[in-house]
Amino acid sequence: MSLEQKQKVLAALAGGAERVFELQSNLTALRGLGPDNGGTGEQDKADYLENWLRSFGIDDIEHIDAPDERVPSGKRPNLIVRVPGKSEKTLWILGHMDVVPAGEESLWRTDPWTVTRDEDDPDLIYGRGVEDNQQAIVCGCMVAAALKEQGVTPDLSLGLIFVSDEETGNAYGIQHLLKEKPGFVKEGDLVMVPDSGSPDGSFIEVAEKGILWLRVTVQGQQCHASKPDDGRNALVGAAAMILGAAEVEKKFDARNDIFSPNRSTFTPSKHEANVPNVNTMPGREVFYIDCRVLPCYPLDDVLAAFRELGESVGRQYGVDVSVDIQTYAPASAPTPEDSGVVVALRKAVKEVLGVECWCGGVGGSTVAVSFRQLGIPAAVWAHIFENCHTPNEAARLSFAVGDAQVYASMLFSD
Ligand SMILES: [Zn+2]
Repeated sequence: MSLEQKQKVLAALAGGAERVFELQSNLTALRGLGPDNGGTGEQDKADYLENWLRSFGIDDIEHIDAPDERVPSGKRPNLIVRVPGKSEKTLWILGHMDVVPAGEESLWRTDPWTVTRDEDDPDLIYGRGVEDNQQAIVCGCMVAAALKEQGVTPDLSLGLIFVSDEETGNAYGIQHLLKEKPGFVKEGDLVMVPDSGSPDGSFIEVAEKGILWLRVTVQGQQCHASKPDDGRNALVGAAAMILGAAEVEKKFDARNDIFSPNRSTFTPSKHEANVPNVNTMPGREVFYIDCRVLPCYPLDDVLAAFRELGESVGRQYGVDVSVDIQTYAPASAPTPEDSGVVVALRKAVKEVLGVECWCGGVGGSTVAVSFRQLGIPAAVWAHIFENCHTPNEAARLSFAVGDAQVYASMLFSD
């Protein structure tokens, strides 16, 4: 009986490419840029999704919005949607509604805010957000709608979580939601965060490195560049710190093959503007180092190593170096490969896509960490190109259809 019901839902989803296109198009047009990214927030997207779901008779929609005066609606929406199954045990699918800005628009071949099909390949679509993270939201909606349309009650309950603010720190999103509704995920529930993945659908992300973003300030003394002896060149001090990052990396040289890359990484990245003209020797430099640290190292040890480097560079170049924390997110325990969610996902991917999955870790971060910190094993998986945040962000309609079928399959325990 259950098998028949499952086949009915999977068959209905198989013809869902146009519905994926419609959802993707409307979501991208509504943007969902957070105020830190110069936008007006995610409210329009949340309203659209709520109306869409209600049109299928899905009425169990809970709002856990976070107040935020910076956006016109005064709040950052977070939604929990429930579609009951035979058991209270719930498969949760989480998606974030916010996106990153288009970036340099001239690098886009199409309008970033209008979902456009590839001329030669109508299964391929372009638009900001189509991968990150609208595919997750779209697939969740597709499954919920298919259950209602087919009149099927699955074995497990389905829960959709749509959050704000993933791209700019999560304070108004998952962190707010977990603070306001602690324990809404019950032991034994399956938590899916489809916010990372691979083009062949085989990669299940079960671990993430610790993240430490450092702000390095080098203070020297500005002077005319023709008389460098009158000052202390902060840029040279900064250069020594930048090259020193590779030396710090050598101190933290453990390898863990679950991760790719398999080591801790210490990457100098953003640099703030210094002097506007060539003939001034800069007296102050500010740059950042993005550290992704294997779980075996405490982040405090990394911080201490960079501060030690700062002291030695300071002595050598006559500058003052301060190293401050900008982001501090320790690694959480990985999701075990034999946890319920990984076992069910692996089985469903094999069944639907015919693909054998493997588990690994990444240096990026998803909201799965927030669940893992609470001892809830969350799995990160999606069938995607991994081109989030790039110009010409792309996704396949067929990838979304397949992902939706995978989640639907997970709802049945045959
Ligand atoms: Zn994302």
